[in-house]
Amino acid sequence: MAGTIRPVRGTITGVTRVAVVADIHANLAAFEAIRQSWGDVDEVWCLGDLVGYGPDPNECVERLQALATICLPGNHDWAAIGKIDTDEFNPVAKAAAEWTAAALSEDSRAFLGALREKVVREPVTLVHGSPRSPLWEYLLDVSAARVNFGLFETEHCLIGHSHVPLMFATREDGRIDARLLQPEGPLHLAGARRILNPGSVGQPRDGDPRASYAILEMDGVSTRFELRRVEYPIEETQARMRLAGLPKQLADRLATGR
Ligand code: ZN
Repeated sequence: MAGTIRPVRGTITGVTRVAVVADIHANLAAFEAIRQSWGDVDEVWCLGDLVGYGPDPNECVERLQALATICLPGNHDWAAIGKIDTDEFNPVAKAAAEWTAAALSEDSRAFLGALREKVVREPVTLVHGSPRSPLWEYLLDVSAARVNFGLFETEHCLIGHSHVPLMFATREDGRIDARLLQPEGPLHLAGARRILNPGSVGQPRDGDPRASYAILEMDGVSTRFELRRVEYPIEETQARMRLAGLPKQLADRLATGR
C-alpha cells in the first residue's frame, strides 16, 4: 500500500541495506541501470519525482510500486495528477507535466495520489524538498539548511528535488558544513546531524550525466551513506523523448548533466 512500510527482510549480519533513489523523472533506462548496480538490498526508498520530464512514467511508477518500501511524492508527481498546480513551473516543465498527465494510467495516478509527503524512519526523516516545505523548497545553501535542521526530530534527513548530490552537517561550534558528494566510498554519519541528497537518477544537474543514487547502511549503532554514479544508455532515453514529442531541451540536457 502506498507510503506504508513493509517488514524489513532482515539480514544475518543485522545490517539493513537500503537503496535511496530520488528524481527518477520517468527515465526507465537510468533506473534499470542503477537497479542492476545495487546488488542485494533489503529496502528501496524513493524520495519523489518518479515522473515528469522523461518518456516512461507508467513503467517507472510500476517498478517503484513493486520495489519501494517507502515512496514520497515530488512536485512533478502531484502536478501530473492535478493535485498541485503548475504555476511555479517553467514553460518546459509545464509542457512535460501536461504530456505526463495525458500518459499516466489510472493505476499510476492512484498510486502517486496516495503518497505521504513526509515519512520518519529512525534514524532519518524523508522528504522530497525540505522539512520546511516538503514539495517545493530547493535546499542548496547553509542558511536554508540551518532553519531546516530545526524542523525535523531525527538525527538525519534525506532529501531530493535539487538533483544535486550534497550533504549538510552540523558542527560542534554551531556552524554548518556543506559539500557536494562524490562516489568515493561510504561516509560514516556519526558525530553530526546530516541532511543528505543522493542526487537524481533520471536528470542529474551537477555536471555529471551519470545516474546518481545512494546506499544507506544501518546496523542500529552506526549509519553509513555511500553515493554511487552509474552510466546508462542516455541516447536511448533521448530517442524515446524525441519520439514522444517531449521538449528538446529536456532530452539535450541529459547528455551534459546540467
Ligand atoms: Zn525533480
